Amino acid sequence: MKIICVGLNYHAHIQESNQEILPVEPVLFIKPDSAILHNDKNQFYIPDFTSDVHYEAEIVVRIDKMGKNIAERFAHRYYKEITTGLDLTARDLQTELRKKGLPWEISKSFDNSAVIGNFVPKEKYGKEVTNLNFHLDKNAETVQRANTSEMIHTIDQIIAYASRFFTLKTGDLIFTGTPAGVGRIDIGDCLKGYIEEDELFNIQVC
Ligand code: MG
Repeated sequence: MKIICVGLNYHAHIQESNQEILPVEPVLFIKPDSAILHNDKNQFYIPDFTSDVHYEAEIVVRIDKMGKNIAERFAHRYYKEITTGLDLTARDLQTELRKKGLPWEISKSFDNSAVIGNFVPKEKYGKEVTNLNFHLDKNAETVQRANTSEMIHTIDQIIAYASRFFTLKTGDLIFTGTPAGVGRIDIGDCLKGYIEEDELFNIQVC
């Protein structure tokens, strides 16, 4: 399986990251399956090649049907479950690579950089997936809070676009971008991700 991630999908996050790009189409990158850290494990160890790991809380979608060139109007048929996750980023490494104009894959796709919570049915909250609240608490303080209506590209648009380039397969995950409020994690931090008021992951930083 693969993990497809979207960058720059919330205006407020684009502003905080000093990017001048306003993406007309989704900005995609891939993480390998070795990047997954499921909530079952509940511990994230900061790797030795970075001293500035950032959390990025995101809504994550699990694909449950194979598809290629999926039309946006049919995209909702390709996923039944969602969760929250963390696109963990070695920001120091990413900044250094970006400055040199090099691909920043290693800063985003290292082992355990894709935290995923427990999946829930997308209808669970009785609302459209385009209108869900989610938030991240760090040490019992809310550090990111957003509604999926603030996405620049909707989940269905992302699926349609991504499937032009990548055949989507059952079990593939899509990280749909982070809202404002990203920041650093340190040893001892506790990170909890929510959709509405449901706690879907609880990760200890070691
Ligand atoms: Mg991200």
